[in-house]
Amino acid sequence: MRKVFLCISLLISTVQYAAAPAPWGFWGHQRINKMALYTLPEDLFGFYKPYIDYVTTHAVDPDKRRYAVADEAARHYIDLDHYGKAPFTEVPRKWNDAVIKFTEDSLQAYGIVPWHIERMMYRLTDAFREKDVNYILKNTADLGHYIGDAHVPLHCTENYNGQLTNQVGIHGFWESRIPELLGENFDYFVGKAEYIPDVNAKVWEIVLASNALVDSVLKLELQVNKEIPADRKYSYETRGASTVRVYSQEYTLRYNELLNGMVERRLQESIIQLGSFWLTAWINAGKPDLTGVVMRPWTEEELKEMDEIDKAYNGGEMKGRTHEEH
Ligand SMILES: [Zn+2]
Repeated sequence: MRKVFLCISLLISTVQYAAAPAPWGFWGHQRINKMALYTLPEDLFGFYKPYIDYVTTHAVDPDKRRYAVADEAARHYIDLDHYGKAPFTEVPRKWNDAVIKFTEDSLQAYGIVPWHIERMMYRLTDAFREKDVNYILKNTADLGHYIGDAHVPLHCTENYNGQLTNQVGIHGFWESRIPELLGENFDYFVGKAEYIPDVNAKVWEIVLASNALVDSVLKLELQVNKEIPADRKYSYETRGASTVRVYSQEYTLRYNELLNGMVERRLQESIIQLGSFWLTAWINAGKPDLTGVVMRPWTEEELKEMDEIDKAYNGGEMKGRTHEEH
């Protein structure tokens, strides 16, 4: 039998497993990357315009990479409350200071999303400076993924799937089920990207804001759980050849109502912040003029890497934490 995919966050928890989304769901990540392009000023948007599809499609590469690369998982989350209480001043905001205090192994064990975003910013800035279109696009798409993840409350807590509060499945419920069911009707007009003077400070502002929402995310689901009888909590949907168990529409709508627009607001924040990070990388690179600069053929090595990631993803065996977990 084919190895099951452990992804669609416990939206699917029984019946049969199917290959499917992860953090923000594939739908959410792709929507974030795509809409963020429209926040950019005209000159930078002009460069990206022929590549909208690339940036959108590849929004989910980092999740696929989790099947191929053991170190990948930790880049998608940070268990902030492992370190104490908000505002977590015991965690050094700079990577080198944090490594000295906690060791790299320990940081990896509890997630490194804020620092990885900074690393991606360096890479994207370099790519702009070198005017390497392929590298710009790859890092643009990847950065979008991590910024999106950092905006998800359950990516910034130890209780990432409600496993400590008997709410297993809530991770995918919040970030996949709600956007996939209701996201088409959300408002995506988020304004224009702005320069970020202090990337490190901004990244921390984002993960702290996400963590601050965790309490509501959990409490409100408990409330729905009390209101709606157990036999109306789940329903079954057909996905391709599989039947999957999902949170019912009634249950999902009620949760979204109690969240009072939180999922929509975090999606909007992801979009405007992502546009601002991209713009900042370009400005920090000296606003290179990219007119007429086009993609080169991918190198052998790059093609090999892409191939390996796809193969591993299609093989379905994930390294590190599974998607249910982050
Ligand atoms: Zn992710």
